[in-house]
Amino acid sequence: MKQRAVIVGAGITGTLVAHALATRGWEVVLLEAEHVGAGSSSRTAAGIRQQFSTPGTVRGMRFSVDYYRRFTEIVGGTESPIAQNGYLFLLGTDEEVQAARARVRMQQGCGLDVALLDQAALIEQFPWVDRHAVLGGTWCPSDGFLYPATVYNEAAAAAQRLGATLVQRAPVTGAEHAGGRLTALLTPRGRFEGDLFFDATNAWSPRLAQVLGATELPIAPLKRYLWFAERAGSLSGAEMQQMPLIIAPSGAYCRPENADSLLMGWAHAARPEPDFTYEDQDRIEPKYFHKTGTDSAAFEAWATLAEAVPAFGEFAGITATTSGYYGTTPDHNPYLGYDPAVPNLVRLVGFSGHGAMFGPFTALVATALAEAGRDVDHVTALGEPVPVGAFRVDREIGHAETLVI
Ligand SMILES: Cc1cc2nc3c(=O)[nH]c(=O)nc-3n(C[C@H](O)[C@H](O)[C@H](O)COP(=O)(O)OP(=O)(O)OC[C@H]3O[C@@H](n4cnc5c(N)ncnc54)[C@H](O)[C@@H]3O)c2cc1C
Repeated sequence: MKQRAVIVGAGITGTLVAHALATRGWEVVLLEAEHVGAGSSSRTAAGIRQQFSTPGTVRGMRFSVDYYRRFTEIVGGTESPIAQNGYLFLLGTDEEVQAARARVRMQQGCGLDVALLDQAALIEQFPWVDRHAVLGGTWCPSDGFLYPATVYNEAAAAAQRLGATLVQRAPVTGAEHAGGRLTALLTPRGRFEGDLFFDATNAWSPRLAQVLGATELPIAPLKRYLWFAERAGSLSGAEMQQMPLIIAPSGAYCRPENADSLLMGWAHAARPEPDFTYEDQDRIEPKYFHKTGTDSAAFEAWATLAEAVPAFGEFAGITATTSGYYGTTPDHNPYLGYDPAVPNLVRLVGFSGHGAMFGPFTALVATALAEAGRDVDHVTALGEPVPVGAFRVDREIGHAETLVI
């Protein structure tokens, strides 16, 4: 008899896990409170980088890039969900250059096509960068950004073609247990039995955990904003469309949304909002709204990016603000593992702003966990073992991911 998996949450994580398990012969039910993509997956900057500070994550994101490159072959559809425009981290101080040197050496050791560029090499390759604003940069041409709707819509459709059942407008509001194990989930659209259950609700996970009797994990829903600036002045549409995702020394970042629109973001100090509503996802506080005026955080982000790339200062203005929630963990690593309190529940949550890029790697880990029936030390990605102990649910919070945007 087929093993039955019930997955809660149909964002990038839940849909890719549903597809992966359906491919491996599992009978899959995917339960979604609203509709596919109703959470952070449709509100994301969707950057994908392999430039991380820990070898396991570098290797994991190399797997994700490879998967997204082969997405139409693996999942289906006709459009690639990835634009490999690269990621350019700009470095403003000697200390940053020193730290980058060690990091790039580690990343190259993981097989990544990343380089540390000194100021001259950087300006030669990216003449739109202001030479007075930077000392160098780290450059990885195979990084880039994703088209998230293509990912979750195609993955949901492909999972259903393989026999998975998708139930939308089905918030999980109750659970049944026997002998400490979950046996069924309750929703207004029915009761769903399973052998193995997956929590793919990210920023909602603390609330779902209460419903499931699961371990309370320190996942903070933190508001994050994106702003869109309209191209004008000396930068051509063709130049803009080829630009990488750029991270300024201040931490603000941007990438082309299209030839005429620049997506900008900058993490700010935020208080956790554990009870946020679906509407809150799109609620823009005045301080962050571009129409508030030049005091708005939107203009601060634009100004700091224009210090690094002066041509951005010639742009016509900011046309839109959007927002969503990160599910942030204390060490900025996700939880990918079995719940210590509920032995047949796998948590795939706490992506701390990396969940879109983690998606394929998360699905790989989820499949390995499902097949092992317990936590595993390694998964095999691109033919190499990748340690996943740093993602266990019962880990000691110690070694943090330091390259966080
Ligand atoms: C502004 C912003 C910028 C970002 N930039 C990046 C980036 O550059 N790169 C990157 O990789 N990531 C980025 N992220 C993070 C990324 O978007 C998320 O980590 C990712 O989308 C999480 O996907 P998910 O499927 O795990 O969660 P979600 O997409 O949030 O999906 C969770 C789903 O669970 C459902 N759900 C909740 N409770 C229940 C319940 N009780 N029953 C049934 N269903 C339920 C929700 O309706 C939702 O659809 C960014 C996020 C934001 C907000």
